[in-house]
Amino acid sequence: MNYEDLYKAAAGESCEMVKRSHGIALGFHSVADGLILTEERKFQKMLEDFRVNPSEPPQSISSVEDFLAGYLFTFSTGKALQLMIDKEDVKKWIEEHFGKGQLRLGGTSANMAVALASFGFSKVLVYVYPLVKELADLFPDLPNLRTVSNKGKIIHPRSGWNGEKLGAIHWIFEVKKGQKISLSGREIICPRDNRFIASWNPVNSKLDIASYFRKIYMGMVSQYPKFLLAGFHIMRDTYPDGDTVENRMREIVSFVREIKGKGATVHVEMASVRRERVRKAMIDLLFPEIDSLGLNEVELSWIAEDIGISSTGIMDGEEDKVLRALEVLRDKKGIKRIHFHTLGYYMLVREKANREALNLAVAALAAARRAETGKPPSCNEIKSAMIHPMSEFGIKASRIFKEDAFILPTRIVDRPKITVGLGDTISSIAFSLSDLHNDV
Ligand code: ADP
Repeated sequence: MNYEDLYKAAAGESCEMVKRSHGIALGFHSVADGLILTEERKFQKMLEDFRVNPSEPPQSISSVEDFLAGYLFTFSTGKALQLMIDKEDVKKWIEEHFGKGQLRLGGTSANMAVALASFGFSKVLVYVYPLVKELADLFPDLPNLRTVSNKGKIIHPRSGWNGEKLGAIHWIFEVKKGQKISLSGREIICPRDNRFIASWNPVNSKLDIASYFRKIYMGMVSQYPKFLLAGFHIMRDTYPDGDTVENRMREIVSFVREIKGKGATVHVEMASVRRERVRKAMIDLLFPEIDSLGLNEVELSWIAEDIGISSTGIMDGEEDKVLRALEVLRDKKGIKRIHFHTLGYYMLVREKANREALNLAVAALAAARRAETGKPPSCNEIKSAMIHPMSEFGIKASRIFKEDAFILPTRIVDRPKITVGLGDTISSIAFSLSDLHNDV
């Protein structure tokens, strides 16, 4: 396949494709993020004070040491990681030492909704709970971005808030390639731009679906027939009231079945679900019900272990290992479409996978443009991302050629302005275009 021609076509046709697509609904995770840039000295001092050294990160944060171990994992490996904070005193410690950071709209659902509405999709409906003023104000002023208010009205998020104060915050600690610290006489150089996320979210961690949203959306499935489901990384194994993740997952499954019965297509965006029991509940209960899954190399390597296959090589994006894991996952769980993304290429596993080649190229240009500017692009803007070179690593990976697996080498931005939200942009745009079935 001539990838340059494919990218040219994607740049030229993206707005037309967006016009032909359907409405998209998104739930159940919108939140405020606090952005913090890593200060090497301050970070090093904290690691020394708490005697933290590189290790496997914990599953969640119950102490300052856990928090620093997670942060150090991202700093030393360049790999993204998100951990939930379990204890309020650790949340207070982080707030005391870092403040709230620069507040921005976050949460997988809100990020994807803004990416899609900015890109030009005309109908985007996002679940925001609770819709408090501090959170509502972070939504951009896009007329095609809507939510359901607790009075059951379809409104722009800014116009229907109720209550003032944030009940949740997700801190994003950005690390930059080349940043250095010294630990026990050993120098650690950050290999890649990325971020570590520490999340405090007691209000939404059950992924409860508010009854007013459920009721209103059920009557509107035909207007928003694609549903992007995300936020599982903020779930807990068990809850203070005795509820369990399996119970919560069954609730979500009943929602999925009901909307599929009304004609919806459902995509799950995996994100960094560090807790094994939450992942297991997703894999066993939810995956058999969904149509589409989006995930990156860290997420796939964890799932591979969960379903009993080796994760070797997946973290490094070795395409044959990635392909095998995706095929086993598809066969065991019956997921029709799986979209894997890593730095350098995307791999799509589905029937006649190359029918989505153009859609994936549109998503790749959007991601490159977003990496370059730090902002979600519109479909008109993505042509300029053609200046970024295609990844050599991705071109090598694309030697695999199968009817039900397509690999697209992606364009790489040398010094990205920001990396957070790129995966969300990639998966949401590709899924939103996924039923256009362009032949290539
Ligand atoms: P997030 O969770 O922030 O949405 P992920 O870690 O899941 O992001 O995905 C990030 C993706 O963004 C990578 O898999 C890669 O495809 C893309 N990406 C990362 N850095 C760059 C870059 N410098 N240029 C182009 N694409 C990038």
